[in-house]
Amino acid sequence: MRTITEPARQVPVVHETDVLVVGSGPGGLAAALAAARCGVAVTLLERFGCFGGNITTVGVEGFAWYRHEQTVEAGGIGREFEDRAKAMGAAVPESQSLSYELDSEGFKLVADRLVQEAGIHPMLHRQFVAPIVDGDTITGVIVESKAGREAILAKRVIDATGDADVAHRAGAPTHKTPVEHMQAASVMFHLAGVDKAAFLQGVKDDPQTYGDWSTGEWTVETDGKEDAMFSPFLAKPFARALKEGVIPAHLNTIGGTWGAVHDTGEMTYMNLVHLAGCDGTDPDSLTRFEIEGRAQAMHAIEALRRYTPGCEGVRLRNFGMTIGIRDTRKIDAVYNMTEADVRHEGRFDDSIGIYPEFIDGYGILILPTTGRYMQIPYRAMLPKGVKGLLVAGRAIGGDRVSHAAVRNMACCAVAGQGAGVAAALSVKEGRALDDLDLCAVQGVLRGQGVRVD
Ligand SMILES: Cc1cc2nc3c(=O)[nH]c(=O)nc-3n(C[C@H](O)[C@H](O)[C@H](O)COP(=O)(O)OP(=O)(O)OC[C@H]3O[C@@H](n4cnc5c(N)ncnc54)[C@H](O)[C@@H]3O)c2cc1C
Repeated sequence: MRTITEPARQVPVVHETDVLVVGSGPGGLAAALAAARCGVAVTLLERFGCFGGNITTVGVEGFAWYRHEQTVEAGGIGREFEDRAKAMGAAVPESQSLSYELDSEGFKLVADRLVQEAGIHPMLHRQFVAPIVDGDTITGVIVESKAGREAILAKRVIDATGDADVAHRAGAPTHKTPVEHMQAASVMFHLAGVDKAAFLQGVKDDPQTYGDWSTGEWTVETDGKEDAMFSPFLAKPFARALKEGVIPAHLNTIGGTWGAVHDTGEMTYMNLVHLAGCDGTDPDSLTRFEIEGRAQAMHAIEALRRYTPGCEGVRLRNFGMTIGIRDTRKIDAVYNMTEADVRHEGRFDDSIGIYPEFIDGYGILILPTTGRYMQIPYRAMLPKGVKGLLVAGRAIGGDRVSHAAVRNMACCAVAGQGAGVAAALSVKEGRALDDLDLCAVQGVLRGQGVRVD
């Protein structure tokens, strides 16, 4: 490949902080809030114009769709996201669980409010592009924006980019599932013009279950207990559209779940387009699949219009601001979580919070309808090779099947809250991130309402 040499340049330091959180999805937002509530100066950096990550930019609204009567959870900031959204009119009851579905637009305001109340320094519209490293310690980041290249200095950095961008560029070892085995990407969309009563009557007349996920293109492993449970699943309209030639024959992967249907005729969080082979760290791949995904979404809408009661008059309301990526880099952490941890109630002395036995991905669906749960170890957020850095959210250390559990948004919030408290205590006590008093971290987390064990 041809290369050019960039000239060396001076970069202005535009800001200094105690804890810098890069990325503001459920992991980063929880991290920033938790750290700020410990009384240190916190800055939340985000490349887009709103906080919330996949919730607000992709339109992923099902925050806790796994929750049933017996489900045991961490509480903490994840629960607060739901409660605050509900209080601000930005959530509605979720169709398959005892949870609230977040409104992806309304959650932008919820996140603004939480950030402002906690006194976090907000920095939107700045993309992390390079770490500032002193020896083996990260001391800040370089960002790019309409203002050009700028430096932000920090005592501790939390990488919550989802893709481990900071850890990777700082030289920490990371790995990716080979692209042909990665979880599919999705272009998400919301609809307008649904006849709610007719749609829900259609669902009632022909209720779908999690067992139905295994018909057609996919096979999904369950515990068996999930199979007869209701799922807001849509496959039949697309099978019919394929058969009648309304959808091209190769688009046999269209199908999935609907989210919330509103009195105003909107149906949101349409998770129907699945794009295999998309690498979310490759802009050429992202470009190709954004365009392909939008085209597939329009085929899905046409099938809904023709074959789904209540959808005769639907139209596209909007796409997510960006394609939804489930699976990219993960760090090689001091402890990498395993399939056994998420399937068999992993327990850890350095737990920073618990997460119910919920596995969703790579062809597995286990719902926490029992009281079983695992603990999340602090060491899974501690990258090798770079000091001063924690990784929160879906990029924490672990194998494929563990990812199908910890990638879920409420689990990202658990990890984020743990990382935020740990980073704050590290600054306050002047101790390195790999030399913290974990009992003290756990004590603060309990004080913040987190169930740790
Ligand atoms: C289509 C789809 C459906 C899903 N459905 C569900 C579901 O129903 N329930 C569930 O719990 N989970 C679901 N997930 C998974 C879940 O959304 C993610 O795993 C989760 O949001 C990850 O959280 P995070 O905080 O790690 O990262 P993200 O939510 O991805 O947030 C990362 C943030 O970092 C920012 N960022 C990234 N790089 C940079 C940079 N270089 N500089 C500055 N900012 C940067 C991004 O803009 C983003 O705001 C779904 C995912 C997808 C894609």
